[in-house]
Amino acid sequence: MREIVVYGDPVLTEKASPVEVFDEDLARLAAEMHAIMVKAPGVGLAAPQIGVPVQMAIVDVSVGEDPDELHILINPEVIEAEGAQKGEEGCLSFPDITAVVDRPLRVRIRAQNLAGHVVEMQAEGFKARAFCHEIDHLNGVLMTDRVSRLKREMIKKKVQKRVKAGTWHP
Ligand SMILES: [Zn+2]
Repeated sequence: MREIVVYGDPVLTEKASPVEVFDEDLARLAAEMHAIMVKAPGVGLAAPQIGVPVQMAIVDVSVGEDPDELHILINPEVIEAEGAQKGEEGCLSFPDITAVVDRPLRVRIRAQNLAGHVVEMQAEGFKARAFCHEIDHLNGVLMTDRVSRLKREMIKKKVQKRVKAGTWHP
């Protein structure tokens, strides 16, 4: 199984390539991403986070408990956003680090599914936050890009300390 890459790896700050081929390999990658996410555990994972720079992300706020909660987003975009929420956010590429990030309260997403069909979905609250966070990943945007400069510097210092200590491997 592939490993989750952490902050400092350039793959996390590049825009991922659109998915053009909807085949068994893509389905296999989605299944692998879900397994890695559940094991971590987390509520979402974007392909660049396992070193694959393509526009696919998964969100599952049930962490593998409810199959209806598994959302696979391929080439996704936010087509509507309304309201605002402030809340603590984590990221599997920033282990043990959280930050308060502003997000819309409700979003409407347009994406493709594993068959290549265009689908739309709506989410609000925590799930809307998760969708926005994962879609950001596909554009090379990290939660550190959505916090104040002071907070960003604090996170960078924490990471640098851990790199020195040998507990952070970008
Ligand atoms: Zn993340």
